[in-house]
Amino acid sequence: MQSNSIRFSCVGCGVCCKGRLIPLTLDEAQQWLIRGHDVTVILEAFDELNWSRSSQEFEHAKGRSASVRCGEGRIQVIAVFAGKALEQCPNLRADNLCGIYEERPLVCRIYPMEINPFIPVRQDNKVCPPEAWESNNILCTDGLADPALEALINQSRRADKSDASSKVAICAQLGLNVTSWKDNALAVYFPPRGTLLKAIQSVKGTPEDYPDCEWQVRVDDPSLRERLTASAVALATSESVDYTFHVL
Ligand code: SF4
Ligand code: SF4
Repeated sequence: MQSNSIRFSCVGCGVCCKGRLIPLTLDEAQQWLIRGHDVTVILEAFDELNWSRSSQEFEHAKGRSASVRCGEGRIQVIAVFAGKALEQCPNLRADNLCGIYEERPLVCRIYPMEINPFIPVRQDNKVCPPEAWESNNILCTDGLADPALEALINQSRRADKSDASSKVAICAQLGLNVTSWKDNALAVYFPPRGTLLKAIQSVKGTPEDYPDCEWQVRVDDPSLRERLTASAVALATSESVDYTFHVL
């Protein structure tokens, strides 16, 4: 059988460190805040109904989420904590190299590989310049990275799962209770640095320990609103200044 190798070598252009949010593990988010930089929180939710993709994809998403009561129904909530690098990463040096190279987040070590096992690595999905793909170094073969890189990818996937409940509990504690619906939109919060750091450092238990948190889903699409209403899911009724809402 013919193997399909992708060749790649980072050329240090720094483009991947600009104009984005950097997904972080909970430990990394804490370190990011301690360094004095901002962490955004992105909330998205889903349920088993109308899941249009494979059951393995559902199980993967479920493993990254926590179940919460929402109205009279239940939804799975994924909370992504991401370093704010919307102009550029605060750790990027003037020479386009990483100022925290030895401590850089897992996602930075893994790029341009994908963490999601259902997304194949594709050059046209990445911001790396053409010369980075002209290397003799093999990045992956048939989607499988070399053992060291594969270990980092697995470490990131494990953290995604083990952090999931605590991250949603932190959101419940901070009253970040309106989530977007997966593949429909993103609800993005910009909590104050000190408040989020304190919540991360003191988090205990699961989202169930915050019964006063009234979870709601913000959906603008009428047919999706109808479907979620039929599932007894509580919908957010109005615009809010608490988060920004990006329809996908
Ligand atoms: S932490 Fe370093 S590698 Fe990661 S985005 Fe920032 S500058 Fe780039
Ligand atoms: S965009 Fe690609 S080539 Fe440029 S620094 Fe990032 S990983 Fe390296």
